Amino acid sequence: MNISVQKNVSIKEYNTYRVGGPVLFFAEAKNWPTFLGLREFAKQQKVPYMVLGGGSNVLFADDGYPGLVILNRMDKIIFHGDTVTAEGAVGTTKLVLIAAEHNLGGISGLASVPGSIGGAVYGNAGVPDLNIKDAFMHATILPENGNKPIVVGQDYAKFGYRTSHFKETKDIILSTTLKLKKEPSALVKKEISMYIKSRVAKQPPGLTCGSFFKNPDHFPSAGWLIDQSGCKGMKEGGAQVSEKHANWIMNTGKGTASDIINLALKVHKIVKEKHNIDLEPEVQIIPNSPFNKN
Ligand SMILES: Cc1cc2nc3c(=O)[nH]c(=O)nc-3n(C[C@H](O)[C@H](O)[C@H](O)COP(=O)(O)OP(=O)(O)OC[C@H]3O[C@@H](n4cnc5c(N)ncnc54)[C@H](O)[C@@H]3O)c2cc1C
Repeated sequence: MNISVQKNVSIKEYNTYRVGGPVLFFAEAKNWPTFLGLREFAKQQKVPYMVLGGGSNVLFADDGYPGLVILNRMDKIIFHGDTVTAEGAVGTTKLVLIAAEHNLGGISGLASVPGSIGGAVYGNAGVPDLNIKDAFMHATILPENGNKPIVVGQDYAKFGYRTSHFKETKDIILSTTLKLKKEPSALVKKEISMYIKSRVAKQPPGLTCGSFFKNPDHFPSAGWLIDQSGCKGMKEGGAQVSEKHANWIMNTGKGTASDIINLALKVHKIVKEKHNIDLEPEVQIIPNSPFNKN
């Protein structure tokens, strides 16, 4: 197996915050044997590895990542009846739009979720009325401790609110099969456009990972708590709490990962003092989270 690995690669262009220092090793994988070879490479180099999809839920530290980042490039889509199997790197929005062309709906809400379908399964991404879990039938993974792909279902995935069992493993999600609904294309497209319009109206444009913190188990939402704590508009270097959506921490352009993390820590502290609630980050801080839980 020929694998190609680059050294000291800037990670900025591979994440939606556009921050982060160099990663020690960087490679791309278009098939599972390459993933396997790269995992072996990381083992030989005695460094950690991680898979990267669209980079829309990761915050790389300014010091970078002392391991191997494997950019997922597996992006085939196969329809069978009212199900679809999408490889991990397929864009979530793209999948919803292509399904609509096949007269298949049921996942329109996911059209407004950036990133890859692999990343969406990893974090059970979704919107208030739909999470990827609702359509998930099974996934083909390269298990942490196995050298061949295996198929796993809901019982293995153990989805929760913005979480899954995959977060506790180093499994690589190769593809996912989703159950869709047969619906006329025009109807599905109308629904998609409704979701996207309502999203565009609510979300601030700019460099971000969307919601920074998870909503607590019970109302109120993280956004409400941050707003009520007076944090809207708060700044730290080039990072700012959005005026439009308090749970969105933005990179205003020249922000660093440290600016974003320091601002998030301040917000966390203020909310804790005012409401006695420990907000938990939804964004994955890499390599280490300064928050108690992540
Ligand atoms: C503007 C904006 C709006 C957003 N709105 C929403 C929203 O409405 N709902 C929501 O849930 N999220 C939202 N997000 C967050 C983000 O889009 C989702 O979490 C998305 O599913 C992440 O996918 P990704 O491919 O970008 O993952 P990445 O950021 O690349 O990775 C996230 C984590 O998943 C792991 N991972 C990725 N692919 C794989 C794989 N194939 N196998 C194993 N592990 C993998 C990575 O190692 C990492 O730990 C938003 C983000 C932005 C920027």
